[in-house]
Amino acid sequence: MDRNTLNGDLTTGFRKLKSDILDKGLCTGCSICTVMCRLENIAFDGHPVMRQECASCQLCNIVCPRAGEVSRNLQKEWDTLDRHAIIRSARSTDEGILKVCQDGGVTTSLLWYALNAGLIKGAVVSGVKDLKPIPMIATTYEELVSSAGVRYSPSPTFQALLYHSRDGGSNGRNHSTKLGLVGTPCQVLAMRNMQMPDMEGAILEPSDSIEFIIGLFCMEQFDSKLTEYLRNKMDLQNAKKFKMTKDGLIINFADGSKALVEHAEIKRFVRSNCRICADFTSKYADISVGSAGSPAGWTTMIIRSEIGRSIYYGALRCGFIAENPRSPKMQVIENLSGKKMERSAKSRLD
Ligand SMILES: Cc1cc2nc3c(=O)[nH]c(=O)nc-3n(C[C@H](O)[C@H](O)[C@H](O)COP(=O)(O)OP(=O)(O)OC[C@H]3O[C@@H](n4cnc5c(N)ncnc54)[C@H](O)[C@@H]3O)c2cc1C
Ligand code: SF4
Ligand code: SF4
Ligand code: SF4
Repeated sequence: MDRNTLNGDLTTGFRKLKSDILDKGLCTGCSICTVMCRLENIAFDGHPVMRQECASCQLCNIVCPRAGEVSRNLQKEWDTLDRHAIIRSARSTDEGILKVCQDGGVTTSLLWYALNAGLIKGAVVSGVKDLKPIPMIATTYEELVSSAGVRYSPSPTFQALLYHSRDGGSNGRNHSTKLGLVGTPCQVLAMRNMQMPDMEGAILEPSDSIEFIIGLFCMEQFDSKLTEYLRNKMDLQNAKKFKMTKDGLIINFADGSKALVEHAEIKRFVRSNCRICADFTSKYADISVGSAGSPAGWTTMIIRSEIGRSIYYGALRCGFIAENPRSPKMQVIENLSGKKMERSAKSRLD
């Protein structure tokens, strides 16, 4: 569905989103529909919830990354960029970031560079509170550092834009502010859907504030019930970092100890919507980042667009990141991408 072919059918709107996406277990929890609804009709409680009668404007269906096919224009543009992408392995040079980051801290360092260089005024990221992902716009080094690391359950990151666009700039984050965004592949697609121009070339607000997107590699996410399950199994108070590995989920604690929870034990918490997802590398992102293909402590990067290259080379030149002389192992990334596509094709048939 796109904005140029709306038919004004008033029987659709949120009801369509509910029957096509929510009731079928396809919702990724990306939260973009809550930002899109001009009537502030959609609340978010781990998934979208209709607050009041809907005007059936269809905008929530248009931006939803799980509603319909990806636009051909979008696919064509990013397939071309992908063919000319630069693949690198790098890591942060900042000790504070290296202490808390997931892999090489490149994600946080690129945002820190972009803030310093005045390319953006803030970064839309997933913060964390009580081990839960929370939406935030980081505008300082401390806020960025607090968002480093990974949460393996869906982050309602876009909700930060709700306050960004509707607070009227009371906190200095008015609508015209330039922002960077970090998200999973489904969130990247959601934002690209929002950024698609209509026939007059207009772009939906507030997606026009997003200057660039850093997309995360992603194989799957887990239901938030996983945290409750782990809490019942062990004391997570001093848990510092969660890392999915080929052996299972490794939890690192503040005292240096580690716990391994094997895949078989937690696979029932994998979200059903992730099984049909085919994008491993965030192929619509200006820069994609992941651990796959690089040695431990480094971040693999796929740099696709012009703005992606300018941020990468700028951060490198100004010493925010350092490049690994060894290129990432592309075979590893290709194998994981293939595995994800196969799983998606199989799940769609089931
Ligand atoms: C759910 C999930 C699954 C992943 N699966 C894989 C995988 O299978 N293979 C692989 O190679 N890499 C995977 N990654 C990416 C990898 O874990 C690192 O995020 C990436 O290598 C960047 O590391 P960094 O040290 O540069 O990031 P850091 O500098 O530590 O920054 C991490 C960034 O991730 C953001 N973030 C954290 N949690 C979430 C979330 N739930 N949703 C959206 N944004 C979030 C934060 O806002 C922060 O900006 C996954 C990430 C996530 C969130
Ligand atoms: S975005 Fe439009 S269709 Fe969706 S809930 Fe809001 S008013 Fe209804
Ligand atoms: S996938 Fe995102 S846009 Fe679609 S229903 Fe779920 S939260 Fe809303
Ligand atoms: S596997 Fe796909 S749907 Fe699931 S979190 Fe990752 S990108 Fe989103």
